[in-house]
Amino acid sequence: MAIGIYPGSFDPVTKGHLDVIKRASKIVDRLVVAVLVNNSKSPLFTTQERVDLLQRVTKEIENVEIVSYQGLTVEIARKYGATVMIRGLRAVTDFEYELQIAQTNRIIAPDIDTIFLTTNLKYAYLSSSIVKEVSCFDGDISRFVPEEILELVQQKMRAYRLQGIDACDAL
Ligand code: ADP
Repeated sequence: MAIGIYPGSFDPVTKGHLDVIKRASKIVDRLVVAVLVNNSKSPLFTTQERVDLLQRVTKEIENVEIVSYQGLTVEIARKYGATVMIRGLRAVTDFEYELQIAQTNRIIAPDIDTIFLTTNLKYAYLSSSIVKEVSCFDGDISRFVPEEILELVQQKMRAYRLQGIDACDAL
């Protein structure tokens, strides 16, 4: 049985991530989507919120499981018996960073291979940062995030504004 891991910040999950999840879930028997807890970027959504949003958008996909983790990605891969790491590539700008990470992982964990899925062209421009930037200025994000979580993401940004925290500053 091939188990894959798809790690990331997912702050929040976008239609681009979901597209990668759907495609990867057809390549492996079981896909573990792993939400990184301690990130150098300080996330806008808590770990539990990011896990919850991912669970909502993947609830129809039977072989997908959402987890969170701290520390090395290869360690969480091993914990779940994953031998394949999935990453998405949008543009050349992703490539250098992704290649470096994949090569490092290959050195520290030669038993795990990274597979890159090229973005669906519809979502080539899309990132969690774009969602947050548009949303913090109250722009329409319905084309960026799955419908099931649209209201939740908008609510979170409204809550930030009500607390007097400028979500746009926090980005
Ligand atoms: P990270 O902070 O580790 O980059 P992200 O949650 O932003 O985590 O992304 C996780 C993975 O998903 C990365 O490999 C990223 O390149 C990929 N990804 C993000 N957005 C898209 C998209 N629109 N299309 C394809 N892959 C994407």
